[in-house]
Amino acid sequence: MADDVGIVIGLGSNVEPALNIPEGVRQLRRHARIAVKRVSRIYESPAVGVAGAPDFHNAAVLAVTDLEPAQLRKELRGIEARQGRQRTSDRNAPRTLDLDLVYYDDLVAEFDGWRVPAADASTAPHVVIPVAEIAPDWINPGSGLTTNTVATKLASDGSKVRPIMDVRVSTPATTTGHDGFGDGIEVYSPRVEALVREQLEEIGEDPTREGLARTPLRVAKALDFLTSGYQTTVEEVVNGAIFDSEGAEEMVTVKGVEFYSMCEHHMLPFFGQIAVAYLPRGKIIGLSKIARIAEVYARRLQVQERLTNQIADAIENSLDPYGVAVIVEAKHLCMMMRGVQKQESSMITSAMRGTFQTNARTRTEFLELVRS
Ligand code: ZN
Repeated sequence: MADDVGIVIGLGSNVEPALNIPEGVRQLRRHARIAVKRVSRIYESPAVGVAGAPDFHNAAVLAVTDLEPAQLRKELRGIEARQGRQRTSDRNAPRTLDLDLVYYDDLVAEFDGWRVPAADASTAPHVVIPVAEIAPDWINPGSGLTTNTVATKLASDGSKVRPIMDVRVSTPATTTGHDGFGDGIEVYSPRVEALVREQLEEIGEDPTREGLARTPLRVAKALDFLTSGYQTTVEEVVNGAIFDSEGAEEMVTVKGVEFYSMCEHHMLPFFGQIAVAYLPRGKIIGLSKIARIAEVYARRLQVQERLTNQIADAIENSLDPYGVAVIVEAKHLCMMMRGVQKQESSMITSAMRGTFQTNARTRTEFLELVRS
């Protein structure tokens, strides 16, 4: 893997921008190889040189990635395409989402000169002003000036770029000093938040009362985290942490691995502990990776049986061991809260592969280790 580099991505939209910019930010946050560090507010600006054209919304994201510029651009194009963007040469054509790589640089070596600055990174107010909010000290190689200096100058020249909405994760420390920015509406996932608001109304609640005002936002963030397994693969979490067993063929056992998942029938939590054993055939894996593999599958809508099998399959595919065994013991809130079963009952599922399936002694040895 390449070293991590700092990047600045500019976002723009003039088709349902109030939906598309926050959705674009959310897609960047969910990307497995882009770690979003800071997000600017959303700024509104009139379309350049076209009377009656819809206003643009713009924002900027500071992130860290291990992708090379060409790979990164390809990933950005992919996110744009998923949000319905069709690229044309017309700069004023309707666009659901534009993702532009504004800056790309190596944070490891100090200020060794920013690479790949976008052409308009020092001239276009709708690019520079959001960027200055999240990366004020970054120096534009064209002008040699910080983005903050350039943005201040562009703003004093009468730029019509003004902040209108907040899509940052963290609560703004202060909103003073930003003209035209009111009470800071933070948006994470507009579609999910609208649905949660409707859901609250459906159950007879008032989504505008104080205690619920930020609930749709919180639910959207929580749901995103709890289902983040859909965006992760076993290969990514294992990330090469497979080692030579140096001839050892003894059973490797890990137990008490905590997990939290959501049942796909009620979208309510089920949680418990996982025990895993395998008989190495030349390869072993870092113990912490077993928990990470479990998370890849637990952070999805699940049934316990499938979760158990998927963990076993993942270990089998990663290590090609003589055998693998997985036992999952969990409590299901959909049963406990709805009074379907006894409150304290838990469900146990298992998956036995290879030697654990064919050899009763191996299986018994594992079961005794798990019980002890
Ligand atoms: Zn359920």
